[in-house]
Amino acid sequence: MDSPRPVLDHTLMEPAIELCYAVAPMDATTPKPAAKKAADINVLKCLNPDCRGLLGYEVDSNNVLYVDLAWTAHADGALRYFPCPKCGGRNIVEPFTDAKGKAAHRVTRFAAAR
Ligand SMILES: [Zn+2]
Repeated sequence: MDSPRPVLDHTLMEPAIELCYAVAPMDATTPKPAAKKAADINVLKCLNPDCRGLLGYEVDSNNVLYVDLAWTAHADGALRYFPCPKCGGRNIVEPFTDAKGKAAHRVTRFAAAR
């Protein structure tokens, strides 16, 4: 019984190919989520270039706090800072006025822990 594979096998594939065509959705009609030009939100990273530890704050590309949580910053005299949980350094928060005149806070620089 070493007959060659029946030709039937080959013809059986054809309906499968047709099926693929039938099942393929019309991609053009599928609504795709519009690429919105949203504000650029990042998670604040420690400004210490040797650390880059994640701090739980959302900032835009200019390190301006997206949700102004500056009131949660630690205070040392007039200085406000977010302590880094990884390296213990200070990420200094300073008042900042954005292009629309809105008061905000921005993480401007890093200071090593004392
Ligand atoms: Zn750090």
